Amino acid sequence: MQPQMGNERPGAPVRPVSAFVPGAAVPPPPGASSPFAAGSPFVHPGAAPLPRQGVPPPQAAGPPPFGVGPPAAIGGYRGLSPPQGPFGTALPSQGPFAAVSSPQGPFTSAPPSQAPFASAPPPQGPFASARSPQGTFTSAPLPQGPFAASPAPFRSPQSALSQPQSPTGGAMPPPPTYVRPPPVQSQAPPMQGYYPGAPPANPPFLMSRPAFQQPVQTMPPPPIGPAGAFGNQAAYPSAGPPVGGTLQSLVEDFQSLSLSSAPGSLDPGVDVKGLPRPLDGDEEPVKFLEAYPLNCHPRYFRLTTHAIPASQSLVSRWHLPLGAVVHPLAESPDGEEVPVINFGSAGVIRCRRCRTYINPYVTFADAGRKWRCNLCTLLNDVPGDYFCALDASGRRYDMDQRPELSKGTIEFVASTEYMVRPPMPPSYFFLIDVSVSAVRSGLLEVVAKTIKSCLDDLPGFPRSQIGFLTFDSTLHFHNFKSSLSQPQMMVVADLDDVFLPLPDDLLVNLVDSRHVVESFLDSLPNMFHDNVNVESALGPALKAAFMVMSQIGGKLLVFQSTLPSLGIGRLRLRGDDVRAYGTDKEHTLRVPEDPFYKQMAAEFTKNQIAVDMFFFSEKYSDVASLGTLAKYTGGQVYHYPSFQAATHGDKLKLELNRDLTRETAWESVMRIRCGKGVRFTTYHGHFMLRSTDLLALPAVDSDKAFAMQLSLEETLMITQTVYFQVALLYTSSSGERRIRVHTAAAPVVTDLSEMYRQADTGAIVSLLGRIAVENSLADKLDSVRQQLQLKLVRSLKEYRNLYVVQHRIGGRLIYPESLRFLPLYILAICKSLALRGGYADVSLDARCAAGFSMMILPVKRLLNFIYPSLYRVDEVLTMEPHRIDGSLKRLPLTMQCLDTGGIYLLDDGFTFLVWLGRMLPPELVNNILGVSLANFPDLSKIQLRECDNEYSRNFMKILKTLREKDPSYYQLCLVVRQGEQPREGFLLLSNLVEDQMAGTSSYVDWILQIHRQTQS
Ligand SMILES: [Zn+2]
Repeated sequence: MQPQMGNERPGAPVRPVSAFVPGAAVPPPPGASSPFAAGSPFVHPGAAPLPRQGVPPPQAAGPPPFGVGPPAAIGGYRGLSPPQGPFGTALPSQGPFAAVSSPQGPFTSAPPSQAPFASAPPPQGPFASARSPQGTFTSAPLPQGPFAASPAPFRSPQSALSQPQSPTGGAMPPPPTYVRPPPVQSQAPPMQGYYPGAPPANPPFLMSRPAFQQPVQTMPPPPIGPAGAFGNQAAYPSAGPPVGGTLQSLVEDFQSLSLSSAPGSLDPGVDVKGLPRPLDGDEEPVKFLEAYPLNCHPRYFRLTTHAIPASQSLVSRWHLPLGAVVHPLAESPDGEEVPVINFGSAGVIRCRRCRTYINPYVTFADAGRKWRCNLCTLLNDVPGDYFCALDASGRRYDMDQRPELSKGTIEFVASTEYMVRPPMPPSYFFLIDVSVSAVRSGLLEVVAKTIKSCLDDLPGFPRSQIGFLTFDSTLHFHNFKSSLSQPQMMVVADLDDVFLPLPDDLLVNLVDSRHVVESFLDSLPNMFHDNVNVESALGPALKAAFMVMSQIGGKLLVFQSTLPSLGIGRLRLRGDDVRAYGTDKEHTLRVPEDPFYKQMAAEFTKNQIAVDMFFFSEKYSDVASLGTLAKYTGGQVYHYPSFQAATHGDKLKLELNRDLTRETAWESVMRIRCGKGVRFTTYHGHFMLRSTDLLALPAVDSDKAFAMQLSLEETLMITQTVYFQVALLYTSSSGERRIRVHTAAAPVVTDLSEMYRQADTGAIVSLLGRIAVENSLADKLDSVRQQLQLKLVRSLKEYRNLYVVQHRIGGRLIYPESLRFLPLYILAICKSLALRGGYADVSLDARCAAGFSMMILPVKRLLNFIYPSLYRVDEVLTMEPHRIDGSLKRLPLTMQCLDTGGIYLLDDGFTFLVWLGRMLPPELVNNILGVSLANFPDLSKIQLRECDNEYSRNFMKILKTLREKDPSYYQLCLVVRQGEQPREGFLLLSNLVEDQMAGTSSYVDWILQIHRQTQS
């Protein structure tokens, strides 16, 4: 029998309200204030019948949560249907590039028929003659040999090691008078070739030219660790390329490593110390700002090469991904706040054809009455209110006073036309698994205390909303009505037909219901103290959370301690099957088994709900399936395997705090426009793609970055400059609709070497890493690693072909200075948690969680994650505290850096590993650990706390300093002793990416392999 109300089920266990009160002897709240006091606990006051599909009972006019997209589902924008784009009415098909304006660029005279880009090397292309002479390179035939070697990436290259190769250093003849090619752009006309009226003295474009004059480099000493770091290493004779003399000019163009050993010698002939190492971390490409001071800062937008290829043939010869990394809400340093501009009722000024926002690269004409769009060249009217006269050079007199005309990053206050509904208040809904493992691990107490401590700092005061739903084999709703003195719990046991037992007060205003929420958080740890329920009905709980949140949207935080076992979305223990590795089925372990979670994610995104997943299980909990909730909603995955409050409590506390209190952009969408001839094709990160180029982001914050690949739409680019504009439309926590706009320009080049010269390794590694993680969802890990290696080899081979013929540098691996760390970073991606080894190397859940992290990490954090920082710390412990930070030096990631008498710290941004050398004085160790090592053999349980001695205080200060450098994650501190297996192997050795581990190459072997393959 099913009552019409649908909210009462025979046999549904009803938890007494008093369950909230520790001790359980307190009587229920006065009946007058409780809607459930009149006999039936689920009286539904006057609600409409609940449809079986789970439509939320309240707000009957609201959008149905499942199936039919609600009006607001397309985001907070008026009149949007997906094909129409969010920022206006321009149809993509009628977008900026529909009406191709006739070529007005400087190369119009080059007949297209002379553009045989398919096979001819660029120097013979039409641009070559139009441009400056290309020096000695023009006559160099480019070897076209296909890459034939089949790489065997993780096999020790024994043959290479023992194969003597004749050194080339002495045999190098003086090169024929080498004339360095003039900078590509130096002959170029002003970049705004579209626009004859472009003021010639426009400062940004004048200043842009020196960018492509390669600064004269002397051969830098290879980065090495502190003296003595390689104490045990045989000293190889310096094998770098000769400096000065005949090779001086060459050195300006590329770097090289000599890889030749003396005949008969067994040593590989590689100067191990001299190998390039990114010990200073990410190199933000700020030098482009000198050439393009109107560009946004690279912390927001980075291209994989700051030189856009002019032709498809250049693209195909580049071999590395062409694209960008966007970090739209990157935190700016103090004093560099993003300017906010309010055009008021006049509205934001945009190109009427392509909807580009007005930016520093637009130009003005007709005495200031018109402005020309830099993306599509359309001449737009300047609104009367915005008019300003031009000076003799065509600049507006007010240009420097207007941030939108002088800064690459600004925010516009959006008018009501950018909304279809009022901006919603920030809302936080918590879905907490309270089954037995969550209770036993101490999780509930950490979560409750942390949330309570954050209540004052939740963004959006006084509008923020909050709510909780707990679940095991049943769903527990909590009524936070402000007139209550205690929250009330209502249990729903029908998992097949989820309904809300209460129309309102499940998601409440925090200010109004603060005392009820606090009371709930105080009692949560004890409320389920005796719970022995092992079941977890996550799927039904998600549907319930959706019903609660669908009207407002917001953030859903899911705390999951076990594999979902009941109701829709239950998952089976498919586990980590060793037999699948190396077969065609291997990747299926890493993709969701049940489409339910992806479907839920789609519904969440439509309704502006972002999901963050927190995993705590000691057993398999199918992160692959559940993580999709975060993947498609702009959310984040946190993984605390085998969570125990005593060990992991601080990490969870700090990371949850960060998640709840960081500035967040709500109800957002992001689009990246680019100029004529190029197009972003694929996007990589956590979002849902709505239409072809619009990223739906229910919530986004400063810890999320996105990557995208760029392709050429035309075989030949006739423009001099390509412009990019990132626009993030969002609701601020204070309830204001905003548009954050980042604008950047990059030159178009016809010279492959220029693409290499302007390459950005950090952006390339970010994009390659994301593509590799995605490929691992469709292919074997081994194949993914081989693909990475192949890209690297092809790229360096192509680069080598640019130089090798003239200069006879056979015995050297040559590479552009800009990519000197790329081989090591690619090796590091192959050895990363997400992609390393096979079955036994990483648990499947940890592998998937790492993959989800790699999809969102900003460049700097990603690089530190795959090539962690290693420091020796015992030597600085006796220093003055203020000198410690500056004295920490990063070391190469190899065992050879570790002295048995030292203490080392490995920091990958998520974990600290403290490694104690075998020969350390016991008293030093005891001082730091706070216990006697002899009495504490199991270091896996140890908790580092500050002890009352100088060593301990300084040691803890180091940890604190490093943690404060990046607050987005909190490093859990683990301690391991030298030789303590298997922990040392798993925690440390597998992260020493320069060393050979079972089945993987050392850095030296890797370089030798790459070198061999680039020559084949
Ligand atoms: Zn336009």
